Amino acid sequence: MNNLELPTEKTAEFSSVDESSLVVIIFDSNPGQKLLRENPHLLTHCLDSIISFSNSHLMQKSQNKLAVMACHSRKSDFIYPGPGKPLDIRQVDGQYETFTLVEKTIKQNLAKHLAGESAMLNTESLLAGAIAMALCYISRLQRTKSPAFTLNSRILVVTGSSDSASQYMNYMNVFFTAQKQNVVIDVCALDQHLSLLQQGCDITGGLYLRLPQLQGLLQYLLWVFLPEPPIRQKLVLPPPVKVDYRAACFCHREMIDIGYVCSVCLSIFCKFSPICTTCHTVFKIPALAVKSKKKKIKL
Ligand SMILES: [Zn+2]
Ligand SMILES: [Zn+2]
Repeated sequence: MNNLELPTEKTAEFSSVDESSLVVIIFDSNPGQKLLRENPHLLTHCLDSIISFSNSHLMQKSQNKLAVMACHSRKSDFIYPGPGKPLDIRQVDGQYETFTLVEKTIKQNLAKHLAGESAMLNTESLLAGAIAMALCYISRLQRTKSPAFTLNSRILVVTGSSDSASQYMNYMNVFFTAQKQNVVIDVCALDQHLSLLQQGCDITGGLYLRLPQLQGLLQYLLWVFLPEPPIRQKLVLPPPVKVDYRAACFCHREMIDIGYVCSVCLSIFCKFSPICTTCHTVFKIPALAVKSKKKKIKL
């Protein structure tokens, strides 16, 4: 009996060694977002929760990987692993060195990132760009890893700013790229409802959660976003909300219910235009077509 049981145990162990999970956290650190404008101290609160979440993720498995990005109104930076050499860390209060390294690197690089930004407040953060950078990072890791090793990747966006339709095209491009690369996008909305990012979660099979209260950020992160997507099906998580699948028109970048779609390139417009601004196809004007029909009837 024992002899029979042993090999199965070994194979189970073997497969867990060859599989690991990567989380890329995109933290919206834009001081122009409403949440931080009203209460700047919340930045530290959010950052502490994210660091604890990062450490919990690394604690789950020794092969687990982590990357953290800070997203701003003009640029996005990797704050962990940061550019240049890793910091020289000694053990502090018996804390595991990797956790100290994560905390110090994130805080130091975020300070640099914030200092490098201009004081001009822009409420819109370049989240689509940050997701694109995260996808490039994931794709590079997938290319350089050994073929026997499976890397399950996901992106977690933590933001308090609103998603504006001006980035509609960029959002859709990154969502479908993520879907193609099997990268799950999770979104934790700290303040406002984000309808475009919610579509991204739905497309990639991720979770969207708008926090009922910001004080419990760490609890929500650990409970909802820490389990890997295959495990989530077995948990009782907040029920999925109805996804608002409205699109933004290409002419004014506004969300619309009904619009005109170019039959050649599928661009969306809120008003009829005789020439598609994206692919320059010329269309018949509907009013003229009706008039010529009427003339024909009279004749
Ligand atoms: Zn329009
Ligand atoms: Zn067109």
